[in-house]
Amino acid sequence: MRTKQQALFIIFGGTGDLAKRKLYPALFELYRKGILSEHFAVIGTARRPWSDEHYQTVVRNSVSADDQQQVNEFSKHFCYQSHNVNDTKHYVTLKKLAERLDQKFKIGGNRLFYLAMSPRFFGTIAGHLKSQKIVTADGYNRMIVEKPFGRDFKSANELNQAIGQYFAEKDVFRIDHYLGKEMVQNIFALRFGNNIFRSLWNSRYIDNIQITLSESLGVEERAGYYETAGALRDMVQNHILQIVSLLTMNMPASYSETDIRREKICALKALKVYQPQEVKQNFVRAQYVAANGLKGYRQEDQIDPQSQTETFAAGKIFVENENFSNVPIYIRTGKRLQTKATRIDIIFKAVPGNIFTTQQLADNILTIKVEPEGEISLQVNTKKVGQGYQLQQQQFNLFPADKHQLIPEAYEKLLADALVGDATNFTHWEEVAYSWKFVDAVRHAWDQQKAALATYPCGSMGPKQADQLLAADGRHWIFN
Ligand code: NAP
Repeated sequence: MRTKQQALFIIFGGTGDLAKRKLYPALFELYRKGILSEHFAVIGTARRPWSDEHYQTVVRNSVSADDQQQVNEFSKHFCYQSHNVNDTKHYVTLKKLAERLDQKFKIGGNRLFYLAMSPRFFGTIAGHLKSQKIVTADGYNRMIVEKPFGRDFKSANELNQAIGQYFAEKDVFRIDHYLGKEMVQNIFALRFGNNIFRSLWNSRYIDNIQITLSESLGVEERAGYYETAGALRDMVQNHILQIVSLLTMNMPASYSETDIRREKICALKALKVYQPQEVKQNFVRAQYVAANGLKGYRQEDQIDPQSQTETFAAGKIFVENENFSNVPIYIRTGKRLQTKATRIDIIFKAVPGNIFTTQQLADNILTIKVEPEGEISLQVNTKKVGQGYQLQQQQFNLFPADKHQLIPEAYEKLLADALVGDATNFTHWEEVAYSWKFVDAVRHAWDQQKAALATYPCGSMGPKQADQLLAADGRHWIFN
């Protein structure tokens, strides 16, 4: 149970899409649950010349609730300041407003600076917050930053140094919202809370792991950004490698931020970084083409008709630590795929010596469905009811949440963690650094080889090359 918190949020990018779709609804849930109550306020800032009244209307419209009076009360905690983050004068006004709200709502100096805007502004904002003394001496000062954290190791390192001049690592909360998802957090309980899995979670018993993050949408309104990023940077460097680290890290000494992060860093450090020739054998990139009445990527608005940006990436990766070296981890992610789903399949090795000589044993597979609905299932072999001795495959299905239980949104949980200073579910700089080093090697090989980009029709599960990646090892995607 979380206790009541007092804090002033300053949201840079307060008029943006993320703030409206994710942050205001998440803050409202924290308010509804009493974690935020009378002693909190929010300053939204961006360049648009909005009034407080207009801003409060935007906030009200972005939350959905039956109790309109509660929504009205909530929105009274919000103020807007028009602000160009490059303009020093505006930080003077911001400081005064922050002090006024701190007194009005008796906040006591705690500040959370949420940078919901392009990372190119992060260093400037961090510097001004310090130089203009918007950080307080009598409370905590935490900075929450959004992805992307750089576009390669070099730019991420520069960004980290720019922030690090002003904010200590312990006060920087790098969001990867997958770490706020219930079923991703469940990996820990499954792995370390059950001896049956804890004992089997290694290369002696696990044959391979498959991770799929598939999206059914195309680039939508993020075309400008996506064209410069691609699937590898957009999904693999952060979300997929974070899931890989949770699946392959050694058991931490305790369920605590320091111990968990230490082991996650070790897992990411143990990623096998490929040579260019190995990238060719182990990674596939592709772009969606028109099908099923949907436009191809190159026909989308704001996309270069000759674009080489990948909208799909698949790969075979290895974490070379004691428990996982030799366990292939197949990953794939893409846009305009058949369905929106996030799913992890852990395929166990075959029983050594099949005593049922005339019958095949199915693989034991532990499946963690992260989205759309959270589900854990385990495939086992059982006896068919009746005469003789026939085998059949059956599944244990577990739904950690019942159908009527409201699952907190990732952003709500992550904001609640940031309020109490718990960075367990945020990415440490070293995690980011090792992830980029792995991804840079793939990107570098792709850029050098200029290998023809594969294609896949909208609505499929990706290019045939992604199937061949597994077929070459005598395997197939479990999720199809
Ligand atoms: P967005 O809708 O383009 O919002 C950008 C915000 O920055 C706007 O509020 C804009 O407002 C403000 N801004 C731009 N230049 C400014 C300046 N010089 N001074 C002050 N304010 C300025 O972008 P978004 O989708 O909300 O994304 C924000 C960040 O979150 C990005 O880094 C993005 O990659 C990341 N992110 C977004 C999502 C998502 O679902 N949207 C998901 C994951 C990560 P004005 O134009 O009024 O100044």
